[in-house]
Amino acid sequence: MNQHTRFDLPICLAVEEDAFFRSDEIIKSYMPEIIGEKAMIISEQFLIDTYSEKVSDISRDFGGAEIYAMDGASFDEAVKIAKRVCIEDVKVIIGFGGGRVLDTAKYAAHISKAVYICMPSSLSNDSLASPFAVLETEGSARKTLACKIPTAIIVDTSMIINAPLNQTLSGIGDTLAKHTALFDWKLSAKRSGTHIEDFAYALSRMSFDSVYHCDSKDIKSRVFIRILSRALVMGGLAMEIAGSSRPCSGSEHLFAHAIEEHYPQIRITHGLAVAMGSIPACIFQGQDESGLMECMRTYGLDISPASYGITEDMFADMWEKARTVRRGRISVLDDVDTDRGRLNEIYYRMAEK
Ligand SMILES: [Zn+2]
Repeated sequence: MNQHTRFDLPICLAVEEDAFFRSDEIIKSYMPEIIGEKAMIISEQFLIDTYSEKVSDISRDFGGAEIYAMDGASFDEAVKIAKRVCIEDVKVIIGFGGGRVLDTAKYAAHISKAVYICMPSSLSNDSLASPFAVLETEGSARKTLACKIPTAIIVDTSMIINAPLNQTLSGIGDTLAKHTALFDWKLSAKRSGTHIEDFAYALSRMSFDSVYHCDSKDIKSRVFIRILSRALVMGGLAMEIAGSSRPCSGSEHLFAHAIEEHYPQIRITHGLAVAMGSIPACIFQGQDESGLMECMRTYGLDISPASYGITEDMFADMWEKARTVRRGRISVLDDVDTDRGRLNEIYYRMAEK
C-alpha cells in the first residue's frame, strides 16, 4: 500500500482569452474572501518591463499590490520573499512569469503560508501546478523541493500565443515525454512490489493523449493553447495525487538531468531535453518510437542532438550518466545495455529531418 493518501486541488483553473485583464473578477468569483487582502506580485524585471500594462493592471486589481522583481530562482530568494510576506502581512502571492518565477513564488508561498495564485507568461513545462519547486541551493547546485500546489491558476491564452515559440515547444516536449515516464513508473512499481496510483496514471496519460492525438497541431491557435495549458496542469496534478514526480518523469528526465548537471554549457530547454531523451527511452523500453518521433516533427520540435552541439560521444556519455544521476530511481535504464553502436544509430535516426 502506498502511504500517500492526501492531496489538494486548486480551487480555480481559468484558461481564457485576456484573462489577466480580469484576474480580479475571476478570483472574486472563486475566493471572494481574499479580495482586499494585501497581495504581492513576484516576477522578473524584464517581464515587468515587457508586460508593464498587464502587470500594472493585475497590481491595480489587487488593491495596488507591490510588484517585486526577483533576483534569481534560488532557495535564499524564496526565503527572502517569504520573510517579507510574513513581516508585512501579505496574504496573497501572485507569481507572474515562466518556470523560474513560478517555482520561486510557489515555494515562497509554501513557506509563508500565503495563498498562491499562478499566472504563467509562457507554458514551458508542467511545474506550474506540480507539488515541487526546483531551486538553486549553493552555487549552481539545484534541488527539487516538495511544496503546496497553487490555490488558483489563471492562464491568459492571448499572452501564451505571443510568448516565445521555444517556450511553447518546451511545454509540448514535457507533455510528450510522459509516454516513456509512465512506462518506467509501471516498471518501477512492479519491481518494488508497490502499485501505481491509477488516477494519477490516467491524468498523466490523458495529458499526453490530448497533445499527441490533437487534431489541430497549430501551436499558435487558441484551441491548441487551451489544450496544452490543461495538459500541463493535469501533469502537475497527477504528481500531486501520486505524491511523487513519477507520473511525469522517467528515464527521459534522467537523461535531461544528466545534461543539466554534467553538461551545463549545452543550451536546451527542459522540455526539449526530455523530448530528446524520450525517443531513445522509448526504444530501450521496446516500444515503437516512430509515432512519437512523427508527432514531435509535426509540432516542429527539433530533437536532433547535433542541433544543440551534442556530439555522439557526449550523447553516449549522457546516457551513461543518466543511470546514476538519481540513484534508486528505477527505470528501464537499469536493464538496458546502452551499447555504443546502438546509441550511434539512434543518434543519427534522430538527426533525420
Ligand atoms: Zn519535466
